[in-house]
Amino acid sequence: MNSTQNLLCLDRSGLELFFENMGEKPFRARQLLKWVYQRDIQSFSSMTDLSKPLRLLLENKAQLALPEIISQEASADGTVKWLVKLHDGNCIETVYIPEPDRGTLCVSSQVGCSLNCTFCATARQGFNRNLDAGEIISQVMLANRALSTDPELGANPTLHFQERPVTNVVMMGMGEPLLNLDNVIAAMHLMMDDCSFGLSRRRVTLSTAGHVPGIDALAKRCRVSLAVSLHAPNDELRSQLVPLNRKYPIKVLLDSCRRYCHLGNRMRVTFEYVMLQGVNDDMKHARQLAGLLQDVACKVNLIPFNPYSGIPYKRSTPDQIERFSEELRNRNIFVITRKTRGDDIEAACGQLAGDFADRTQRSQRVSMQQVAVS
Ligand code: SAH
Repeated sequence: MNSTQNLLCLDRSGLELFFENMGEKPFRARQLLKWVYQRDIQSFSSMTDLSKPLRLLLENKAQLALPEIISQEASADGTVKWLVKLHDGNCIETVYIPEPDRGTLCVSSQVGCSLNCTFCATARQGFNRNLDAGEIISQVMLANRALSTDPELGANPTLHFQERPVTNVVMMGMGEPLLNLDNVIAAMHLMMDDCSFGLSRRRVTLSTAGHVPGIDALAKRCRVSLAVSLHAPNDELRSQLVPLNRKYPIKVLLDSCRRYCHLGNRMRVTFEYVMLQGVNDDMKHARQLAGLLQDVACKVNLIPFNPYSGIPYKRSTPDQIERFSEELRNRNIFVITRKTRGDDIEAACGQLAGDFADRTQRSQRVSMQQVAVS
């Protein structure tokens, strides 16, 4: 790849700097954002409100490098999963989940993941690398484009980009977004910028396995909706399921969540809790969980475990999930159970695996994680 700047990696302030360095006015950034994200125009020569010399300069100094969709699968329930090939041959997955009142895109932040949560398919792939901001925001662009142009996905081409299908983004695909903070924040700025996709901060959710310094940094730099993968009500069990807990145990994690809520107006944290039969789904776990969360502004999202081949865990029965949720509700915890979507195409939570070479050996990964979480 040549050394030109990929403008998809820059949010508005990055673009302003880029234009200033070229001797241009900062408002060029807003013009460019509108062409790229609102009109889906990729060629500089078509950007008619930029001067001709500037368009020529951009052709020499910049590019808009989008990754490529190499496969698309649509589930019976309308969920769509794309395999996206990056410039280095690595592949990531992106999932679209339509509901009557919204269209949610589940976006990946890393190729693989270094955190090794014991029940997650992505963890099995190991960690390869961080996505750059362009590779993150491209997932939103590619999804909007496919959904508004592909008749196989029910597109009505006359609405092309007038009404963008993606109304909500959740950073819940492959990877730990808080271990790729700068790129994730630049991409989320683009999701929320009025000159770009213009989503409100309530419609952009970042999910973390509980990286406390990352939560504090996010609070200062980009206050989107926060989801935390809790999955267990005590440190002993949580450290088994989510090894990051050994570094940031529950008390420290909940303190950071409280700080996050205090800063935002009426912000509530969502705690995700994967329901694993016989592991974390007992009534005593529900009571412990309710006790922990009594004074945190939150809601609990129970996620029925999605199995995949070779994994020893089982999904809790619907009855058990209902009892667990009732137990929480009786203790004044707001709780919802996530509907399983797209499991016929392995697009459900925790089933995303992508396709890439794990260049890190398993034994080396332990030390990599220590680097990653320190
Ligand atoms: N690393 C971030 C982003 C991943 S989000 C995080 O941990 O939050 C994906 C969500 O799905 C997380 O809550 C994750 O714990 C959960 N998950 C992972 N594997 C799953 C599985 N097999 N079934 C259901 N949920 C799973």
